Amino acid sequence: MTHRVYNFNPGPATLPQTVLEEAQDTLINYQKTGMSVMELSHRAKEISFMMEETESLCAELLNIPEDYSILFLQGGASLQFAMVALNFLLEGYNAGYILTGSFAEKSYQEAQKVGSAYIAASTKKGGYKTIPQDKDIVIKDKTIYLHLTSNNTIFGSQWQSFPELKNVHLVADMSSDIMSRPLNISQFGLIYAGAQKNLGPAGVTLIIVSPAMLSYCRQDLPVILQYTTHAKNKSLYNTPPTFNIYIMNLVLKWLKQQGGLKTIDKINRTKANLIYQVIDKYSSFYIGHANKEYRSLMNITFRLPSAELEKKFLQQASSEGLVGLKGHRSVGGIRASIYNAMPVDGCKALADFMESFYAANTS
Ligand SMILES: *Cc1c(COP(=O)(O)O)cnc(C)c1O
Repeated sequence: MTHRVYNFNPGPATLPQTVLEEAQDTLINYQKTGMSVMELSHRAKEISFMMEETESLCAELLNIPEDYSILFLQGGASLQFAMVALNFLLEGYNAGYILTGSFAEKSYQEAQKVGSAYIAASTKKGGYKTIPQDKDIVIKDKTIYLHLTSNNTIFGSQWQSFPELKNVHLVADMSSDIMSRPLNISQFGLIYAGAQKNLGPAGVTLIIVSPAMLSYCRQDLPVILQYTTHAKNKSLYNTPPTFNIYIMNLVLKWLKQQGGLKTIDKINRTKANLIYQVIDKYSSFYIGHANKEYRSLMNITFRLPSAELEKKFLQQASSEGLVGLKGHRSVGGIRASIYNAMPVDGCKALADFMESFYAANTS
């Protein structure tokens, strides 16, 4: 490849080109320090400023209440599966898990190792094509938190609105749709998101946690595993992934330039509609996975009538510069990941390709 392609990879995923260009410009000499961001001390004033600015950008874009903590940790969303349970699933209490896909299952399995975790709802039976309705969610006594996965990266379904809970903290894995739409943060006790889908490169995880939840944290864990350690130390207890946070900083500035979350939500709807329209137009050829009302705006999953056609689809798409479209091995078929940074033109190009592929392969 001598030019950039439309990258539909599920994560690590496409980044805005202007962000990459700016990172390239500053790579060797950051703000006249004579050093790269990667070479500066994490205690340097330029880095402190950059980290604080990144925090403010998160707060501004998501409208995060002032008393919430915003953390930049490592270990991906997968470490959060364990950390959430370790910190909050106290003895004598329960945690409810809503199973809507593979990552939700993993978070539940980790919690089971730690304490009393139970399935509050599951859509596994139908092949994870739906999201439970509020009335299907069973919350047991002594439940500390309820965990859900806002967007199911592998199956291509997404929560359209979130349950309103009383006396139970809502915890959400938002790895694949954070910052893709406005949220009411005060509805959540804790949100976590690995950066490599919507925020930047792999290696940093954003955590947003309420003061009420922080006050529950266990204090007898190894210090590195305690949220309170990181909150007290403003994510500087140990060396944070400074370069990754810097790229996140640039992505958030880009997002702000786009017009913020309301605007990006509109753009995301336009983008997803371009592709879903083709799926619906030729619904016996492009067979969508998720039920219509639960479709994800981030990951579009569908199958073709045969494995041979799917292979041909992927090959031809790739030769036209549309890459990363292979579905996850557990679902098969095609998956188009169209996070914030995927341009509208990329979705148009895919929709056009789907039109011509349909025409060429049906008689
Ligand atoms: C990608 C993803 C994960 C896994 O993230 P890691 O950073 O690899 O640990 C977890 N949850 C969701 C919803 C994801 O999309």
